[in-house]
Amino acid sequence: MFILSEDSQRTQGRDAQSSNIMAGKAVAESVRTTLGPRGMDKMLVDSGGDVVITNDGATILNEMDIEHPAAQMIVEVADSQEEEVGDGTTTAAVLAGNLLGEAEDLIEQDVHATTIVEGYHEAAEIALEAIAEEVGEADVDDEVLQQVAESSMTGKGTGGLTAASLAETVVEAIRHVDTDDGVQRDNVTVHTQIGASSNATELVPGIIVDEEPAHDGMPSTVEDASIAILDVELDVRTGDVDAEYAIDSIDQLNAAIDAEEGELEGYAETIADSGADVVFTTEDVNDRVATALANEGILVFEGLGDSDARQVASATGARRVGALDDLEEADFGSADRIHTENFGDDDLAFVEGGAAAETVTVFVRGGTEHVVDELERAIGDALDVVATALESGEVVPGAGATEIAIADKIRQEAAGIEGRKQLAVTAFADALDVVPRTLAANTGRDPIDALVDLRAAHESEGRAGLITDGDEVTIADPFEYGVVDPADVKREAVESATEAATMIVRIDDVIAAE
Ligand code: ADP
Ligand code: MG
Repeated sequence: MFILSEDSQRTQGRDAQSSNIMAGKAVAESVRTTLGPRGMDKMLVDSGGDVVITNDGATILNEMDIEHPAAQMIVEVADSQEEEVGDGTTTAAVLAGNLLGEAEDLIEQDVHATTIVEGYHEAAEIALEAIAEEVGEADVDDEVLQQVAESSMTGKGTGGLTAASLAETVVEAIRHVDTDDGVQRDNVTVHTQIGASSNATELVPGIIVDEEPAHDGMPSTVEDASIAILDVELDVRTGDVDAEYAIDSIDQLNAAIDAEEGELEGYAETIADSGADVVFTTEDVNDRVATALANEGILVFEGLGDSDARQVASATGARRVGALDDLEEADFGSADRIHTENFGDDDLAFVEGGAAAETVTVFVRGGTEHVVDELERAIGDALDVVATALESGEVVPGAGATEIAIADKIRQEAAGIEGRKQLAVTAFADALDVVPRTLAANTGRDPIDALVDLRAAHESEGRAGLITDGDEVTIADPFEYGVVDPADVKREAVESATEAATMIVRIDDVIAAE
């Protein structure tokens, strides 16, 4: 009896397990070489020829066209890592891959999948305890936050700019949005602009919108601006009954022209009389109106997109006005300074010191699109980790030191675990070794030697990581070198990798409909 359609494909038992494990491992393997400060970048070319150059695990996995469902689960590990804590995506994916690799060996030794799953969960619990023990004693102050930012950006194409000054900008941005209700991460935006070296990257105390003045004669800077936002077309009403004339004499023609001009002048007058000195409108502005407003020294931006209009409204406290007759001062927003600047093909409007929101923008500069794109990702990660570290106040040593410490604790506790489950718990520790091993391999060191040295240093000195410091690679206490990661990044990596690996291991039947 057939209960499945003839076209559906079914794999069962060991075959299903091993094909899933292989796919998951392969995906994790594909990002391994990008891990750490000496990690390499990947160039991804899509079918349309678009190129992305990146070192970011989540970005790589998402740009790759991955179809296998088990492999897709590793991509989800990176995605959830990115979503929850914003960094550690490569670590999480590589860890998940290695947990699968270890599971494969266990299955070959006839350890049952459920035993592996139980062992992994127990080991993950021990890992979380170990992470708690690794949390540094020192306060997470600006210096530590900068180290967190720098550690997350090393190895990213920061385009010649010293990571230190970028890290400073990132910390300043997060400090700006640190309120009694926690860090308002969403109030930090990143705006990229090609055309200058990345050294020109700076923090703008406000928002940036892609807009140019409606008229060349308008001021490019307005201080202490009173801002109106209009959803009103400042043009003659065409298609309107009032606007249709039967012209049979020159007098009537003149009267019609006068009526139009009067209408346009009326708009300009109403706005000038209202007291607004900067106007954003989502509709068009007639040239004549723009000229009149320019003569009054009013700065106008026309044809604003809805999201820009909303952003300006929320930053300045302006209420959007739907009819010119309703325009009154109560609807105005304000900002310390609005200025416009031309960048080659692009014009930008900077709205600084808006009255309503404490929004800040990291204005990212770089020579080419690839540079600013990768910089934007690196800064996005750094903003996330600094926010995470500031909120929890917990950081752990990076450079593999935390993974070495976790693995050590797991191995010690494994001794007290009975039966085959002990093998699974120990296997989890072996999987964790992938982080220091990979950091070593990516610096050209022998991974096994490095692991042995790191364990010995951990045994005798406590914290021991494989530090890349300029051209040097040394084994030392990462805290002393400022190589620190938020504790939550490690926790999330352990949890999401365990979840995906155990889910894949448990599957022994794959039924695919065609
Ligand atoms: P992920 O996507 O997992 O964040 P990264 O390529 O950003 O991958 O690498 C992060 C790892 O690099 C972390 O384990 C971090 O502690 C480590 N790291 C950062 N800076 C250094 C450094 N100077 N020396 C050694 N390891 C470092
Ligand atoms: Mg990172």
